[in-house]
Amino acid sequence: MKLGEIGEFGLIRRFSPRFLRGLPPGAMGIGDDCAILPWIGSRRLLVTTDMLVEGTHFLRAKISARDLGYKSLAVNLSDIAAMGGRPTAAFLSLGIPGDVDVAWLDSFFAGLQGLARRERVPLLGGDTTRSSGPLVINLAVLGEAKVGRIKLRSGARPGDAIYVTGPLGDSGGGLRIILAGRPRNRDEAALVRSHSRPRAHLAEGAWLAGRAAVMAMMDVSDGIDSDLRRIMERSGCGAAVDLDALPVSGPLRRTALRRGWKVRELAAAGGEDYCLLAAVRKDRAAAVARGFARAFSRPLVRIGTVTRAGDGLRYFSGGERAELARRGFDHFKRG
Ligand code: ADP
Ligand code: MG
Repeated sequence: MKLGEIGEFGLIRRFSPRFLRGLPPGAMGIGDDCAILPWIGSRRLLVTTDMLVEGTHFLRAKISARDLGYKSLAVNLSDIAAMGGRPTAAFLSLGIPGDVDVAWLDSFFAGLQGLARRERVPLLGGDTTRSSGPLVINLAVLGEAKVGRIKLRSGARPGDAIYVTGPLGDSGGGLRIILAGRPRNRDEAALVRSHSRPRAHLAEGAWLAGRAAVMAMMDVSDGIDSDLRRIMERSGCGAAVDLDALPVSGPLRRTALRRGWKVRELAAAGGEDYCLLAAVRKDRAAAVARGFARAFSRPLVRIGTVTRAGDGLRYFSGGERAELARRGFDHFKRG
């Protein structure tokens, strides 16, 4: 059997059960944005790790070393945000091909440090080796959260309203521009920036974690088409998404018009947006959205509703059922 037949998530489902038996009390493993371990009193330790591989996640000729350093940390902070946690420490492992020069690495560390300082996440260790293949960057980030405030992927229930904390598709649009050449105007430069320097929604995650009505939360790394399925699987639910409601930024809307892109497909399946996706109890949803808008001066955007398990993920547009031409990202499945 080829990996393409089961995909990234099929593989994880295949090996994970044997490691999830007999965990110590209070520990939670594979399946959410972070692992959870018991810690001091009512606090829990959060652990996440993410790998960036040259040629798969980035092209060294297409992203500056500084941006790559920043992004390597940002994508991990996003998983801490997704649990409602606060990041506390980072560990960096590098597999470096022989042709990478020291000036490039200096810039990489400058980019990483900029974000580490801003978010007060000290780099406390890691590992450095030579790579006989691509440049490989792995970060592990620790965080903490109060036990009662941690948000899992598994808490969504039919009827909950589904929200996102920011626009969708900018990063996917930025990637298209990078692959096609260079940004041609300010809008396109803004999209490329969203791709190269994503912002982890730590403040938004912490705020949502403080709302009891938030039932489930995760970050959008592979596009909502893929990530919403993770929430559905963990929660045992379906979902209905209004494609017309997906928030799209001005730069993406204008660039899509100019370049002839389908903006809906990018918003639903583009990936690497690193905003948060949350399911909120129906009777409290409007109040939570109002509170979010007051706190962050921008809307918490409702994109759909959690439904029963048998429904699967259904899309609507103009009140009618709709299909996506493109699926969210899986490392091994194509099309
Ligand atoms: P995220 O995008 O939030 O980093 P994923 O959806 O990629 O998480 O992964 C799903 C879950 O599977 C996560 O809990 C992750 O820690 C776990 N996981 C992924 N790959 C491995 C692996 N090789 N070994 C153990 N756990 C893994
Ligand atoms: Mg995640």
